[in-house]
Amino acid sequence: MSKILVTRSSMPPMDEYVNEIKDIWDSRWLTNMGVKHKELQAGLREYLGVENIDLFTNGHMALELSLQAMNLQGEVITTPFTFASTTHAIVRNGLTPVFCDINPQDFTMDVDKLESLITDRTCAIMPVHVYGNVCNVEEIERIANKYELKVIYDAAHTFGVKYKGKSTASFGDVSCFSFHATKVFHSIEGGAACFRDAEFGKKLYGLKNFGIRGPETVDAVGANAKMNEFCAAMGICNLRHVDEEIAKRGKAVARYRERLGDVDGLQLNPIQKDVKPNYAYFPVIFDEKIFGATRNEVMEALAAHDIGARKYFYPLTNTFECFHNMFDVNETPVALHMSRHVLTLPLYADLSVEDVDRICDIVLSLKK
Ligand SMILES: *Cc1c(COP(=O)(O)O)cnc(C)c1O
Repeated sequence: MSKILVTRSSMPPMDEYVNEIKDIWDSRWLTNMGVKHKELQAGLREYLGVENIDLFTNGHMALELSLQAMNLQGEVITTPFTFASTTHAIVRNGLTPVFCDINPQDFTMDVDKLESLITDRTCAIMPVHVYGNVCNVEEIERIANKYELKVIYDAAHTFGVKYKGKSTASFGDVSCFSFHATKVFHSIEGGAACFRDAEFGKKLYGLKNFGIRGPETVDAVGANAKMNEFCAAMGICNLRHVDEEIAKRGKAVARYRERLGDVDGLQLNPIQKDVKPNYAYFPVIFDEKIFGATRNEVMEALAAHDIGARKYFYPLTNTFECFHNMFDVNETPVALHMSRHVLTLPLYADLSVEDVDRICDIVLSLKK
């Protein structure tokens, strides 16, 4: 039996990519906002239905530089049930993360606990659309307006997701996407920030290019986060196929749901109202008292059959060694419980129904 990895990058037909990069040989323009960069940016602006978008080397730099461009000080309310990037973007800006718990239904920020965490030092909220599940954007906007807080969404998981017909790129002051190889849509490495205010965009653009404003002017301590032409070319190709890829993922997810949907002791990702999903991940939460096997036992059983599954997310970011016990993990009990019981099963566009069945057979064989 062949190995099944937890994810596998979508690839355009090779000829299509080769054709796309031919121009780069002719122009010898490899990076610094060339033709491919502009074309991808325009394509994404249309696909995501936003006015303002800028591209980055990766999703992390989009997040980190978005925060920097806001000139913030103090505390940023976020969640610990996320990838390292979210929390690191806050800390690397000299800001203090304050961890709000997640809700047990869709694993995004628990908005009922948000307001009690706001202090006079709070400057922003950084929620995460985990697994492509859309945060309670209306309530977050209401609270942010009430206390005059900035909202920066980590939208790394939600490429192609729509809520009430609008792409998740349109919420908050900024929404940041990751185009990493493992994401639903990728440009090998890459990312984007979609933002409301065009003036803010000028600052952000400066920061991705060393703060260089003009040939003799450097007006900010920027970084280097420019997407290169080869990555942009991959993005251009993948964007042509992304809807088909999402549809293929949807078929695998439908099979998973058929097989695992009614099993006692398993909780699956919710189907959210008013949301067009992108099937980014397939998390399963194991209640070992009912199901009869722990998350770790399921992971080991799959590994024994050369099938990769991932504890996504474990550990929580508020327990990372680099933070030296600065945070109390017991303040986010739902996130802690999730991190100990969740396993994301393999999911990618080319995952066959037969492979989903093989995976489900192994999972179900552990049921007591
Ligand atoms: C992938 C990811 C990022 C970072 O994106 P990169 O493109 O890898 O820098 C940030 N947040 C979340 C939730 C992610 O999954």
